[in-house]
Amino acid sequence: MLNILIVYWHPEPKSFNGAMYHTAIETFKAEGHEVKTSDLHAMNFNPVSGRHNFSTTNNANFFKQQLEEMYATEHDGFSPDIEEEIQKLEWCDLVIIQFPLWWFSMPAMIKGWVDRVFAMGRTYGGGRFYENGVYKGKKAMLSITTGGPEEIYLKGGWNGDINGILRPIHRGIFEFNGFSVLETQKVFGPARQTEEERCSELERYSERLKRIFEEPTIKIGQY
Ligand SMILES: Cc1cc2nc3c(=O)[nH]c(=O)nc-3n(C[C@H](O)[C@H](O)[C@H](O)COP(=O)(O)OP(=O)(O)OC[C@H]3O[C@@H](n4cnc5c(N)ncnc54)[C@H](O)[C@@H]3O)c2cc1C
Repeated sequence: MLNILIVYWHPEPKSFNGAMYHTAIETFKAEGHEVKTSDLHAMNFNPVSGRHNFSTTNNANFFKQQLEEMYATEHDGFSPDIEEEIQKLEWCDLVIIQFPLWWFSMPAMIKGWVDRVFAMGRTYGGGRFYENGVYKGKKAMLSITTGGPEEIYLKGGWNGDINGILRPIHRGIFEFNGFSVLETQKVFGPARQTEEERCSELERYSERLKRIFEEPTIKIGQY
């Protein structure tokens, strides 16, 4: 039995992203795994970083987030909402982040979660990154949807290789913090698909998740 954290944001619970989120929860539970979730829309999670990230204060005259994070790490000083999210990351063997691709990136709510939860001292720093990262041994995976079709996300396509678009997340967040990366689950243009095609996308995702721990990780590395 493994511990899985699913972080998810979409402003519409009945969206296709919502369906993927629930498919993952149901599949993992049926397989006997432990699942924790961060449904950021339902939680009304505050994505804006600031002094409210902390219950402690290192420097009251000048706010520098990373120095406050290091101080908070030493003094048990993260605000309850951030502490809870960090503890979920510490608990999990696999984290999946589910979102619609917005402007070639994560929606602001997901980015804000990353900005606040991945904290210097606690999740990285002091030489602990990449191969020596705090979360070494854990896996991370994106599960995304797009508006555009697959062909525009290939090399030479209008938007270019989807792997290049996702590289800042894979390398700059996942690998930087020590996670090994699993291939992204991608559903291209669910709104353009028939109901039948969407149902088979959900089935494909569920089937993949049943064997996800047998999959090799992908190495993002340096260019
Ligand atoms: C600000 C912004 C920026 C964007 N930037 C980009 C970009 O850079 N690149 C890009 O490609 N796109 C972009 N988009 C488009 C966006 O990525 C897509 O609209 C989104 O990924 C589609 O996923 P969804 O969950 O919102 O689909 P939805 O529209 O919610 O769902 C599609 C269909 O699936 C149906 N559905 C829901 N549940 C189920 C189920 N269980 N079974 C079967 N069908 C179901 C829904 O009813 C709906 O008809 C952007 C959109 C916005 C708003």
